[in-house]
Amino acid sequence: MSSPPRAARASGTRLFAGYAVASLLPILVLGTVLAGGNRQDGIERGLGQGRAQAAVIEEMAIAPALEGNDLGRGLSRQESRRLREATDLAIYRGSVVRLLLRSFDGQVVFSDDGSVDDAVPASDPSFAAAARGSTDVRVTRMPHAQTGGQEGGGASMIRVLQPVIANASGRAVGVLELHLPFDEVAADVHAATERTYWRLGGGLAILYVVLALISWSTSRRLRAHAARSEYESLHDPLTGLPNRKLFEIRLEEYTRRQDAAAVVQVDLDRFKKVNDTLGHRAGDKLLCEVAARLRESLRAQDTVARLGGDEFGLLLPGVRTPAAARALLERAERALSAEILIDGVPLTMDASFGVAFHPRHAGDVEALLHCADSAMYHGKRGMRGTVVYHPSIAVSPSDNLSIQGDMRRAIDNDELRLHYQPIVDLATGEVTRLEALLRWQHPERGLLLPGDFLPAVEQTSLIAPMTDWVLRQALHDHVAWTSEGHPWAVAVNVSARNLDSQCLADSVLRLLEDSAVAASRLHLEVTETALAIDHGSVSASLDRLARHGIGMALDDFGVGYASLAHLRTLALSEVKIDRGFVAGLESSDQDREVVRSLIQLAHGLGLRVTAEGVETSVTALWLERSGCDSAQGYHFARPLPWRQLGEPAVRGRQGRPALTEANR
Ligand code: C2E
Ligand code: CA
Ligand code: CA
Repeated sequence: MSSPPRAARASGTRLFAGYAVASLLPILVLGTVLAGGNRQDGIERGLGQGRAQAAVIEEMAIAPALEGNDLGRGLSRQESRRLREATDLAIYRGSVVRLLLRSFDGQVVFSDDGSVDDAVPASDPSFAAAARGSTDVRVTRMPHAQTGGQEGGGASMIRVLQPVIANASGRAVGVLELHLPFDEVAADVHAATERTYWRLGGGLAILYVVLALISWSTSRRLRAHAARSEYESLHDPLTGLPNRKLFEIRLEEYTRRQDAAAVVQVDLDRFKKVNDTLGHRAGDKLLCEVAARLRESLRAQDTVARLGGDEFGLLLPGVRTPAAARALLERAERALSAEILIDGVPLTMDASFGVAFHPRHAGDVEALLHCADSAMYHGKRGMRGTVVYHPSIAVSPSDNLSIQGDMRRAIDNDELRLHYQPIVDLATGEVTRLEALLRWQHPERGLLLPGDFLPAVEQTSLIAPMTDWVLRQALHDHVAWTSEGHPWAVAVNVSARNLDSQCLADSVLRLLEDSAVAASRLHLEVTETALAIDHGSVSASLDRLARHGIGMALDDFGVGYASLAHLRTLALSEVKIDRGFVAGLESSDQDREVVRSLIQLAHGLGLRVTAEGVETSVTALWLERSGCDSAQGYHFARPLPWRQLGEPAVRGRQGRPALTEANR
């Protein structure tokens, strides 16, 4: 499993930072409120102390000293003396800063320092409250003058105003005003507050760290979870490969950056059979093995993805030519085709590879995948292995439309050409016939081979005018080379689509008549595949043409669709052994065996045999020895305009090499 993507990590860090800030704020507020509350508690405590102290002084020192008269009437000498004696101690000890006795009209009648000029108005709210019988306690700042030069001038004091009840009369006679030192209380409060600050700070810091740890571990778990589910949503659970979604995301990056890359669609051949016969578990194992082999055979920078079922997708960065793609895919093909043992059953896997190039074939993800897909399906229909996308192989309706327009123009504008390849009689070494092979001199794409456009044209009705053009041109050329003394007959390829209708027979016969060429000089080549889809109309067409003396050859014989019983019923005169077998003659015992029996089989049915794709003299010799009648291939000549063939370099009987032991 890969490490979590960078984006997830970054968002995790942001999440954690958010948590940290968000939890810091309430903790700071909580700390401030708690500390503020604690300070207020300290002050309250100080005020309470002051109230108690005042009550004690009033009860123990003041009340006993008074004789019970209203203080407004002044103090007697006795009273003054007793008061001084009673209060001296408290003042002296410093537990009281200042002590005043006031009459109900606010005048000072007694003070600790003897001064009596500090009157307050009777209407002062605190004083009035005390005169009415309640106690008023508060913290004040004592003006310097009032402290009488004492230390702590201008400092905070606790001022208590409370009624004085004379013991002698038991009734309120005035108001006692006490100033008590607040410094001690303030220091206490300060110390307590400081302690609280520290404890609170420490506690909150621990709380904060714990919260942060919790949020960190939570966000880490969330991050891991997010990364895991992101991984799961982008990978195939069976093989662990990237899935279609991730494949498309990566491809999208390439298309955005305009980087060159090859996109390959891989489809396993016959996978369904394995699944059906060996079961799904075996199928799963096979898919895992295929995934591993694809991964191992490609480069580290290549992406191998499972697109679904038995389909895989490859993204090959920097690969821009068919040769480069083939070189890489050959490794993958080889790896896949090595035997795989599944539950003790040895299997071999083949796959079709469809290749499209970015940006050459398409610039966006969907179109690229479509191109690779059409190439892959094209491969499935015939050519095995790797097929590179080409516009002509796409069979989507819109592509067909453009091919249709193009082909019509090609016919009208004389862009079609015929090249010819000689067919040589192996016994005499003489060229007996030329096979017409169609070429398209495309104004933009250059000379196109049939593989580039035929599959698309075959899907449309344009196949008929195209075949007409080939027939007319081939007969025209035949007339020309005959007039120059060449004895060659001419062979023309026809598609399955041509045979489907009676039109072909009609136009062949009409064109023969127009050109005045004898029917026996024309051969038609029909692929075995075409005959496999016979609906009766095909054999009817063949019959009609054969009755007129036209030679009928079965093309690509051995590729394997027509049953023997079916072959007997058709009006054929010749079979052409597929070049796939001929190519293997020098190296494969099995191919030699197949070709030998194909020759015998055809001869048994009274058919002549031509071998296609003969590339070496050794092969030509082996074929001759095996009773093959004719041959064609690069060994004799490549397809060319007939005038350029000149005297084809026919190496028939002269200069024949000795057969080696191996291929005798
Ligand atoms: P085909 O009828 O089997 O034609 C032989 C193909 O093998 C030709 O390919 C030829 O160039 C190639 N070939 C010949 N000798 C050798 C050799 O020694 N080695 C190898 N490797 N290849 C050799 P080409 O011209 O690309 O044609 C491909 C196919 O297109 C033909 O296969 C034929 O089925 C079809 N085709 C060609 N012309 C026409 C046409 O006018 N009408 C129709 N319906 N099909 C055509
Ligand atoms: Ca042919
Ligand atoms: Ca052929």
